[in-house]
Amino acid sequence: MPDKPVDPVANLARLRARLNAAASEAGRDGGAITIVAVTKQHGIERIMPLLEAGHRVFGENRVQEASSKWPGLKAQYRDIELHLIGPLQTNKAKEAVALFDVIETLDRTKLANALAAEMAAQGRTPRLFAQINTGEEPQKAGVAPAEADSFVEECRCDRGLAIEGLMCIPPADEAPAPHFALLAKIARRNRLDLLSMGMSGDYETAAQLGATHVRIGTEIFGPRPE
Ligand SMILES: *Cc1c(COP(=O)(O)O)cnc(C)c1O
Repeated sequence: MPDKPVDPVANLARLRARLNAAASEAGRDGGAITIVAVTKQHGIERIMPLLEAGHRVFGENRVQEASSKWPGLKAQYRDIELHLIGPLQTNKAKEAVALFDVIETLDRTKLANALAAEMAAQGRTPRLFAQINTGEEPQKAGVAPAEADSFVEECRCDRGLAIEGLMCIPPADEAPAPHFALLAKIARRNRLDLLSMGMSGDYETAAQLGATHVRIGTEIFGPRPE
């Protein structure tokens, strides 16, 4: 039996309905939650139907892969909002500032310096989220929760970087809710409005705990090719 073909547009509509239902259970307006459609490892043929259906917010985790797919699409659909959701090396800061509209993974001083310099040089100002390593996992990117306040302050004051929100990826083997709640708490005390949290497996929980952005791949596009 061949696999049933994936229908990203139908999947997105179903996801939106579930997201809105989860949000309203918690007394939130689901319409205020942006779905970042994560297209990593998927080709343009999978992306096109969503663009034709009017979806405009997408996420990629690698600068190089994004550079091979998105410049052409961004020339064609001028209101695309492309998010970088994977770790960024300083030597790719130039390319990232040129291509992305939102960088969700600012997590260290050296990168803040590189982004500030590139933004000044290019006159382009992608919006910025700081990534917080809520689980304090050694292998995972992100600022430690205890360093978050001083990092945000340092970016704002020393570099003039207007961080708008926070992003996290909870540990794979833990319940996500405490991590989402921690991220929301750190955002509140730093007066940050935006929270990027929730993926295919936990977006309903994230919607109930204050997410303004959920990053969804599998639920829209099916499993990624290996
Ligand atoms: C791949 C990825 C996602 C999407 O994951 P799914 O489980 O496929 O929805 C979300 N966030 C980040 C940072 C990712 O790398």
